[in-house]
Amino acid sequence: MFYSQELVEEVRTQNDIVEVISSYIPLKQKGGSYFGLCPFHNEGTPSFSVSAEKQLYYCFGCGAAGNVISFIMQMENCDFVEAIKRLADRANIAIAETEYTKETAEEEKLRADLFEIHNVAGRFYYEVLQAEEGKNALDYLEKRQVSLATQRKFGLGYAPLGKDRLYNVLKEKGFSVKAMIKSGLVMENKYGKDYHDRFYGRLMFPIFDVQGRVIGFGGRIMEKGEPKYLNSPETPLFNKKRTLYGLNFARSSKKKEIILVEGYMDMITIYQAGFHNVAASLGTAFNAEHAKLLKKFVTDIILIFDSDTAGETAALRAIPILVSAGFRVRVLQVPNGKDPDEFIKQKGFLEFSKLLVNAKSYMAFQIDCSKKKYNMENIEQKMLFTKESAQMLAKLDSPIERDVYTKEISAETGIAEDAIIDEIIKIKGNDDAQFVKEAEKKRVRMYADKTVGEQIKKSKGLYEAQRNIIYICATKKEIYDKIKLHLKADDFIDEEYKRLAEIVFDAAEKGVTIFPAEAVNYFHTPEAQKKVAEVFAIKFKYDGLNELEKAVNEEIRLIKRTKADALAATATSIEDLNTLMEVKKQLDKLYITL
Ligand SMILES: [Zn+2]
Repeated sequence: MFYSQELVEEVRTQNDIVEVISSYIPLKQKGGSYFGLCPFHNEGTPSFSVSAEKQLYYCFGCGAAGNVISFIMQMENCDFVEAIKRLADRANIAIAETEYTKETAEEEKLRADLFEIHNVAGRFYYEVLQAEEGKNALDYLEKRQVSLATQRKFGLGYAPLGKDRLYNVLKEKGFSVKAMIKSGLVMENKYGKDYHDRFYGRLMFPIFDVQGRVIGFGGRIMEKGEPKYLNSPETPLFNKKRTLYGLNFARSSKKKEIILVEGYMDMITIYQAGFHNVAASLGTAFNAEHAKLLKKFVTDIILIFDSDTAGETAALRAIPILVSAGFRVRVLQVPNGKDPDEFIKQKGFLEFSKLLVNAKSYMAFQIDCSKKKYNMENIEQKMLFTKESAQMLAKLDSPIERDVYTKEISAETGIAEDAIIDEIIKIKGNDDAQFVKEAEKKRVRMYADKTVGEQIKKSKGLYEAQRNIIYICATKKEIYDKIKLHLKADDFIDEEYKRLAEIVFDAAEKGVTIFPAEAVNYFHTPEAQKKVAEVFAIKFKYDGLNELEKAVNEEIRLIKRTKADALAATATSIEDLNTLMEVKKQLDKLYITL
């Protein structure tokens, strides 16, 4: 069985390494990395690190290293093909098996029909909105100042009154009743003889997936009736926990920051006002699935919630989910209890930009919310507030941030900074101890490969040299351009590093960067994957360009000298030997200026 490099990379990127490893061993976030007790060797303090950014793991204790695929191979004791299968399965990626079964063919046909049904429905609703029947809904949009351009952009429509208008349109197009019902847009009555539309008398918001295909609808009632908003049910296409309204538009703004709001109208107004990096949840709280989805597009989040208690509660619930997913999170509360829609209409683009710029850090927001619960005139209450704040600050990784808030709380309460810091240290200590204890309980030990460790020790210098040079070439194009004049991929001694050098050099020539975890994909045994991952996972430790230049030269000489020695050992003619001696002599003169 052979998988294309694209498929392997797709499987890898769809399986976040932190999530996958977390399902085996408990991990704890520290700065940009996660730590846990190594599953591959016996240890009491966590030295197994997982980098969300690099999508690699590395154990400082035993040297185990790799990407998500290597992890599964080692953990499940399986080969590359099996690991890909498992991970593809986990991410719902279909892998073509040798035989295309009847069921999968039927499933694919149904999915295609469902997309088409949504497409037809979207067009139908849109046309009705713009016709005589849609007048009420159109008036409503006008009142809310939703421009025609915005109506088009978002494909807004109107589901007309009458029980089976859409049903008839779909029937005429030849869709099967089964597909219509699966789409959630048509329902059958109790006796299964009669069919009617789910939506009627509603302003319709098509819900798109990230690729911009319609996968469901949200409808706002136009006459009296309940509920005010109705969404499509869960279908093979639509899962509201995994969908954010407007993300397909927001992602093309290419911003690293996204504004998250709670409703369709807020999302549309903010978008129309010129802030295109905005998305909304679909009547469900922000959850880990949303975070996972956003992770592919942004690093920063601004949460906008209504300034009432319900809004605050929702924000407080969303914050830990987003923070632990690694986002930088800020919170914006629209002043005077307004919702963003009202605010923008009254004050305009500029004032709203100011609000965005001044959005509070999530920590400041949490502290403010907690302050409201206590009477700060009362000493007892002040102490409780300080303790609660210390709990929150203990979760912060940045000492600078912690310092800022500690000062703030100290000023607020009159409690000495040192006392607050002591409290934080105490909480953190308990927290770490607790973590190790729990991790111990769950620990899974698979195997510890001693022989690999010993080999590495033997020729540590040479390994390190090969690693460092490849790393530099992969990350610093200008240095690669100088190195390539003196060093070829063929000069590398280890087969894996030779192959990796080829990949890295090739990428550099083409002007593309190679993602660390992607490079690992090219290798299919745990030993090779580990060696490759090490190149990117081990901290690079030169101070300044001078140091680096010295190291690079020494390392290149070491690699070339070892290679010449290796060739000399197998040389069969005196000429070859002489040539190799000459190469070695020239090496002493080799010096690359960076
Ligand atoms: Zn280890």
